Amino acid sequence: MSCVFCQIVSGEIPSYKVYEDEYTLAFLDIGPVNPGHTLVIPKKHYVDIEETDAETLCQVIRTVKKVGLSLKKNLAAPGYNARVNNGAVAGQAVPHLHFHVTPRLENDGLKLWPQKKYEAGQAEEILKKIKIV
Ligand code: AMP
Ligand code: ZN
Repeated sequence: MSCVFCQIVSGEIPSYKVYEDEYTLAFLDIGPVNPGHTLVIPKKHYVDIEETDAETLCQVIRTVKKVGLSLKKNLAAPGYNARVNNGAVAGQAVPHLHFHVTPRLENDGLKLWPQKKYEAGQAEEILKKIKIV
């Protein structure tokens, strides 16, 4: 078994466990964006969102919510980011689905992603391609 997060689930690799239930595990990221940065994973190995069944995704999101509430309550964080890097091109280094839950503090210096503007007609063109009917 070579997946690092499966090895954390099985206990072969140690982790700082924040929360655990039958379906999910939450543990501290070893490279925190802010102290308390937590990863939430399904215990079963799924590579990404597409591969994960809806029931498991619901369980994962339930745990994201629990972790987020703990960060707000216990770290006095007014908010948090909950983010998935889905696919290598999106920055996914570990191919086992995980949500990053990162506490945000006032003036913590972190930035959101840079945003672009649509050219004239471009939004309509994109919408034609991706609209789900
Ligand atoms: P991503 O780039 O979205 O795949 O994020 C992978 C995350 O896993 C990174 O933020 C790493 O710091 C984190 N990570 C990798 N190995 C471990 C580990 N053994 N324990 C905790 N976090 C880890
Ligand atoms: Zn895995």
